Amino acid sequence: MIITSRFLARPVRLLSTSAAFVSCIRLANTPHFHVPAGLSQQLQQPLRKMHIQSIPMWVGSSNNYAYLVSDDESKDAVIIDPANPPEVTPVLAEKSKSLNLTAIMNTHHHWDHAGGNTKVLSSLASRSLPVIGGRDCEGVTETPAHNSTFSIGKNIRVTALHTPCHTQDSICWFMEDEATDERVVFTGDTLFIGGCGKFFEGSGAQMNRALNEVLAALPDDTRVYPGHEYTKSNVKFLKKVLPDNRALDELARFADENQQTQGKFTIGQEKAHNAFMRVHTDEMKKVTGQTDPAAVMDKLREMKNAG
Ligand SMILES: [Zn+2]
Repeated sequence: MIITSRFLARPVRLLSTSAAFVSCIRLANTPHFHVPAGLSQQLQQPLRKMHIQSIPMWVGSSNNYAYLVSDDESKDAVIIDPANPPEVTPVLAEKSKSLNLTAIMNTHHHWDHAGGNTKVLSSLASRSLPVIGGRDCEGVTETPAHNSTFSIGKNIRVTALHTPCHTQDSICWFMEDEATDERVVFTGDTLFIGGCGKFFEGSGAQMNRALNEVLAALPDDTRVYPGHEYTKSNVKFLKKVLPDNRALDELARFADENQQTQGKFTIGQEKAHNAFMRVHTDEMKKVTGQTDPAAVMDKLREMKNAG
């Protein structure tokens, strides 16, 4: 366990809860050491190791997200889908004072995800960074195999999850912080909060595998960071096809009250409120008139496309 506090010069690694308790007692008993109210609570808070900065792009039109993911300890970082350089490079320039960018990563080849790679690279001091993504991404240098892993800095372990359908080169990036046990997945245009991408290069069978075999196998507490902010329109559709779904109420309320929903919902919650992750249920079979999960998926997509 790692703890930190603005009252301590640097993070302290503790072995157990009882060690944390002893530490608090010692501080409290130290003469002339004033222990402010709430310090013991602060001592219990883990130092954040994986930091995710969302960079909204084309807000009001396509509502894309790029994400800057960094490891607090080593300061190594990657930028995911930096498609619009005018909105991304100022952030990277500012952050270059404190972070060490090690790669550009992409979720798939579409221009509004991978189309900024070359320009972003040319804006950086180090123009030879790897571009890690699907085979058709602009300037790609590395395409990790399905289920292969690599690290960002000291603490973030990345797993490549191939999810062909929206494009054949779609890869979702699962990241685990081994120090804090935090888990996230960057899903591009495969999984949205409350929805999924169009099947431009694939079939319902492929999207069913992507969502309900590959992504559904992730731990339920994995937080979802999609490639677009589409939640409000997804909720409209979900209300039509899941009228009696109580889990949808929470999503609808949150989407009403917040402009941004990325990182606020988990794979476990998506299984509860996202119709495309419920194609095996009787309610979705009834709504679509299909029984095979791949056929339910195709029909649902057709219904969503129709509006
Ligand atoms: Zn796309």
